[in-house]
Amino acid sequence: MPEQKFALVCGGGGFIGSHLVKKLKSEGFWVRAVDLKKPEFGLSAADDFVVGDLRDPQVCQKVLDRPFDEVYQLAADMGGAGYVFTGDHDADIIHNSAQINLNMAYFGQKSGIKKIFYSSSACMYPAFNQTDPENPKCSEDSAYPAEPDSEYGWEKLFSEHVYLSFRKNYGLDAHIARFHNIFGPEGTWRGGREKAPAAICRKVAEAKDGGEIEIWGDGKQTRSFLYVDECLEGVRRLMDSTTFFGPVNIGSEEMVTINQLAEMAMEIAGKKLTIKHIDGPLGVRGRNSDNKLIKEKLGWGPTQKLHDGLVKTYQWINAQLQATK
Ligand code: NAD
Repeated sequence: MPEQKFALVCGGGGFIGSHLVKKLKSEGFWVRAVDLKKPEFGLSAADDFVVGDLRDPQVCQKVLDRPFDEVYQLAADMGGAGYVFTGDHDADIIHNSAQINLNMAYFGQKSGIKKIFYSSSACMYPAFNQTDPENPKCSEDSAYPAEPDSEYGWEKLFSEHVYLSFRKNYGLDAHIARFHNIFGPEGTWRGGREKAPAAICRKVAEAKDGGEIEIWGDGKQTRSFLYVDECLEGVRRLMDSTTFFGPVNIGSEEMVTINQLAEMAMEIAGKKLTIKHIDGPLGVRGRNSDNKLIKEKLGWGPTQKLHDGLVKTYQWINAQLQATK
């Protein structure tokens, strides 16, 4: 019998966290999850689910009251452009997420955890390298001089340094990935924190054939999107590595404009819709993952096209919408 392994997933009630809990369970881990809330779309697969606030040092100490082989720190005050780029939530974002990361690095190290994963974001890359929608630069070595375009990005960069300094001074085995737009079923799809793929799928699902949908900006801004299962494969490979710990991009290099993403959703839905461009929070003009480093170090890259993941996401959001009618 292989030895039982124990994992803690912080943010285990969120989108990526709840998928990660399922994956770790399928690999035979005993899993404790902690989050402010239980998963919104179904039961958690965790063996133990703690509802708690990781800004509170006592909660962090409590969830770390047993040995863990692996800790995954995904908890963050976050959302899509409508949440992180309006400026209305900057103080909460920077304070809440930094507090969680300071606590988890400190108490994680103190309690003797063997390994910790931290989910940083492509939002930490400098804005000045992402002004050309055709040629954004997001290689890992382009991070400095730093100039993220949001407080969300600044907090991610700061917290990378938190984990890197705990690695340097206390030997905490911290592994860091910079996620680029992760999407899939069971992610937030309405309410203000949803991200572009979910928001567009919802708008397309809600629209009558021949009608219109609203898109923020001119829709020519570019992004890449990675399906959640692919992301988790990258995360697990990074955690399993004994020689490489990042920070490293985990994303797709299939760059599309937001207009193209909307057209793809319409094609999947079988609807012809007009796009109405309206003012809205946008973020950088262009962004794409650069997977050179992760390919070289971990042999990882996405295996499916954006279209495949968008089909599954659209179908799930459409089903949610029908169920709420
Ligand atoms: P999510 O919002 O669905 O999950 C984050 C979870 O953290 C939520 O369930 C939330 O309740 C929990 N949380 C927030 N504050 C907390 C607190 N004080 N105590 C305990 N739990 C708390 O987001 P997600 O998309 O699953 O993202 C997971 C991680 O990946 C985050 O760190 C996010 O910044 C990062 N990331 C995500 C993407 C993406 O495209 N989804 C891109 C880059 C980085």
